[in-house]
Amino acid sequence: MSMLGWCKSMLRKTWLEINLDNLYFNCRYIIEHTHKKLIAIIKANGYGCGDVEIAKVALEAGASMLAVSSLDEAMALRNGGIEAPILILGYVDSMDARILIDNDIATSVVSLDWVKELVKNNIEGLKIHLKVDTGMNRIGIKDIDELKEAYTILKNAKADVEGIFTHYACSDLDPNIKTNDQFNKFKQAYEALDADFKYVHCDNSDAAISYDENITNTVRIGIGLYGYVSYPSKLKRVISLYTTIINVKTVHEGETIGYGATYKCEHDEIIATLPIGYADGFIRRNSGRKVYVEGEYATLVGRICMDQCMIKLSKKYPVGTIVELIGEHIKMEDMANELGTIVHEIITNFNERLTRRYIKNGKEYLIVNKRVV
Ligand SMILES: *Cc1c(COP(=O)(O)O)cnc(C)c1O
Repeated sequence: MSMLGWCKSMLRKTWLEINLDNLYFNCRYIIEHTHKKLIAIIKANGYGCGDVEIAKVALEAGASMLAVSSLDEAMALRNGGIEAPILILGYVDSMDARILIDNDIATSVVSLDWVKELVKNNIEGLKIHLKVDTGMNRIGIKDIDELKEAYTILKNAKADVEGIFTHYACSDLDPNIKTNDQFNKFKQAYEALDADFKYVHCDNSDAAISYDENITNTVRIGIGLYGYVSYPSKLKRVISLYTTIINVKTVHEGETIGYGATYKCEHDEIIATLPIGYADGFIRRNSGRKVYVEGEYATLVGRICMDQCMIKLSKKYPVGTIVELIGEHIKMEDMANELGTIVHEIITNFNERLTRRYIKNGKEYLIVNKRVV
């Protein structure tokens, strides 16, 4: 099992493996578990997994809409042939209203001032979601009178105000005192508007799993698509990270490993080199953590270099042996804890230098290396 045929066909033997079967399962599970419409959030290149590939599977599984953070991310989907509804969650310059309308892209209300700027353009037919700021203090409108004013201005300008939403600050924390408070503020604002919206949405992944209410009809799911939430769930993990041993040797007692000579061998040790480093998004703080090699956990010794790093093994494995950095044995949630961050940050740090290997129907389906197109 050490040198797989497909592995030889990859120019770079370090890859993110994305299991589209599990992604499909997670989308179905969320739709069936919440009984709500699914907005699949694929900002930041589909959380690093490839926006168009993730979008296609989410739509196949029944997602009603896709969401991204900016107009360029939305255009990347349109240029990739995606025709489904798209919502932008972040800021769009009001001067770009025409681009939104021409490409059938919905956007979010940033503030009352933003609405007043926007309607200086012809926005007939522009799809808009009202954003209620219930406690993030990021974007959206807090004051109910301002919200009503924004709604009236948009309706008079013949915009299609198809949605209303808010975003929770603490849905990963239990008990959800802050979430309760935010939900109540949202409910008040929604009821005060007394209007019909096609999409009413509050929940991100953690809230969809942990928080129940009967006002909304849609959920916005990002990290949950990939199977990572802060609560126990049946979601399946989508992402693994693998590399291969490219050099293996005995290093003698007293010798050191890597930059800064931070690791000194206490006796003769077997050291292997892996072709992944911080320029791939495998950050330097990974030094000292474990990886998994054919039944044993090996420690990353010395500093992580830009393109390579070293591990200590109990015995010599041949060049080409596959090493798991994230997967069945090394959980990304544990990695996030050890690095003092969240799973979202780990996966969006992985960049184009890593080959993406997609699995569909249990088989290799597609290999994407953005450096070689
Ligand atoms: C990113 C984002 C989400 C998705 O959050 P997850 O925790 O990844 O599910 C939902 N809503 C908004 C407004 C976001 O910006």
